[in-house]
Amino acid sequence: MGKIWRVSGPLVIADEMKGSQVYEIVEIGKAGLVGEITGLDGDKAIIQAHEDTLGLKVGDKVEGTGRILSVELGPGIVGSIYDGLQKSLLTLVEESGSFIKRGVKALALDRNKKWHFTPTVKAGDILGVGSIIGTVPETSIIEHRIMVPPGFKGTIREIHEGDYTVDETVAWLEYEGKVSELTLKQEWPVRKPRPYEQRLAPSGLLATGMRVMDYMFPLALGGKAAIPGGFGTGKTVALQQLAKWAQTHLNIYVGCGERGNEMSDVLYSFRKLKDPNTGELLQDKEIFIANTSNMPVVAREASIFVGITVAEYFRDMGYDVLLIADSTSRWAEAMREMGGRLEEMPGEEGFPSYLGSRLSSFYERAGMVECLGRPERKGSVTVIGAVSPPGADFSEPVTQNTLRIVDALYSLDVSLANKRHFPTINWLTSYSLYTDAVGDWWNGVYPEWANTRTAALKILQQEAELEEIVRLVGPEALPEGDKLLLLVARMLREDFLQQSAYHEIDAYCAPLKAGLMITTIMKFYELAREMLNSGIRVEEIRSSPMVYKISRMKDISNELFEQKAKELWQEMEQELAADKGGVL
Ligand code: ADP
Ligand code: MG
Repeated sequence: MGKIWRVSGPLVIADEMKGSQVYEIVEIGKAGLVGEITGLDGDKAIIQAHEDTLGLKVGDKVEGTGRILSVELGPGIVGSIYDGLQKSLLTLVEESGSFIKRGVKALALDRNKKWHFTPTVKAGDILGVGSIIGTVPETSIIEHRIMVPPGFKGTIREIHEGDYTVDETVAWLEYEGKVSELTLKQEWPVRKPRPYEQRLAPSGLLATGMRVMDYMFPLALGGKAAIPGGFGTGKTVALQQLAKWAQTHLNIYVGCGERGNEMSDVLYSFRKLKDPNTGELLQDKEIFIANTSNMPVVAREASIFVGITVAEYFRDMGYDVLLIADSTSRWAEAMREMGGRLEEMPGEEGFPSYLGSRLSSFYERAGMVECLGRPERKGSVTVIGAVSPPGADFSEPVTQNTLRIVDALYSLDVSLANKRHFPTINWLTSYSLYTDAVGDWWNGVYPEWANTRTAALKILQQEAELEEIVRLVGPEALPEGDKLLLLVARMLREDFLQQSAYHEIDAYCAPLKAGLMITTIMKFYELAREMLNSGIRVEEIRSSPMVYKISRMKDISNELFEQKAKELWQEMEQELAADKGGVL
């Protein structure tokens, strides 16, 4: 047991700490505040306090626990709301009221609740690490698959169906004469990636229901992406959209250092929403981790690593998991604060020199893997992190370091926000390196995806090039062909890329609908070009009722869309025939 030697904000230095290890969890002072050792110097330990250090005194005791920061994994996680240290916020509020007292212990998993366990293996079966021994129906959406934890293997001696708490033994596993008891829960240190059989390339679309993402800059299952944008550009709204509609098995939302009222908005809106795939309540496939701006700064890092570890655990069951972090900049600011107090040699703009490697130790845990054990299965963790550069200046260190790590970038644009073009994902500066990885997926859903996507992006590119000329000479001086191109580009922007998060129908656009929408615009372009050739002017084309109908496509439901689109295409052809007739 050691003593406090110095306290400075969240930094505590304790002496008489011989025998401690880096990343060990300590309990500080009478209240037993949680801290984590980040460095050792002789018998002094440098500790990050994950709770508010107000009132601590030099000489107060510091006790090592011998444990490192770990998460509890087992039934009861899905649907939970945790703080950055995986304390259940619901339990905390029950025990200490809405103002959470420091040092209060609130276990991540309920110790009294019984879960129904059904074995999928039998006595005599030989199992390795990661093999599934049985299942627990955790929520209406998630079947919790109980696995042999890392470090164990052997022959099943006994296993029984029944109702168990997370502490009770459900199976006995024997290896070289030694018998281990398996329960429904396991623990894992948060900073250590969980093991897998083999890493696979990301593949398949992470369908989000957001057209600009799914169609233009697709994210693959197992991919890593960043969404940087200045204040008010729509990062939080976009990430909440993903948490609601992403077609994954499970979503984990880490609110890191952002406003608490936003987090409660998310929580309330999830109570009512239904998952479009299963019709069940969305909160049955969500886990929330909240370390909002009023909570201790240092626990921001913990919240990120708790989130990714829980994500890997469900990946190991064979699920596709999405991890959302809003915002990684707040975590980086916590690193800067600690670095400053430790008087470490600062890197760029005061951030520690290990900023880049720390960020990548998070993002690199994304991936598609072949899981350990039997039965054979694949799972994935997709990571998407918001970055909030001050003054929307993307040249700052957090954005730049993140860009070196991620393979998809959704660049949010203040000028689009000013024009009320939402989502503000800029189609000229965003990119995705996953277009090949999602090719097969799109071929199965809408084979025209690749062609129409390329064509649409080209039109938007051409529009940007024409803008310069338009600024100089005005739009009326352009040749008719270019005027038509500008009209079509506007349709692509306003009728396809723009998508309101608050519109009852448009909030979630099925990928097939997105394909049919863009094809409709492309068909219009083709027909309008024929009209131009037969002498009709763009001015007339612009006032065609077709232009209006295309602008209303968003209001048509996903279910009815295919039928309606085909009717629209027929109407377009008829109109063209009529117009040609008129001219001839
Ligand atoms: P940030 O997190 O980047 O600071 P927010 O996500 O809070 O920004 O968005 C700010 C505001 O922009 C929202 O309150 C909302 O009015 C508007 N907004 C953002 N995205 C959309 C969207 N997809 N559809 C409609 N409005 C949006
Ligand atoms: Mg925000």
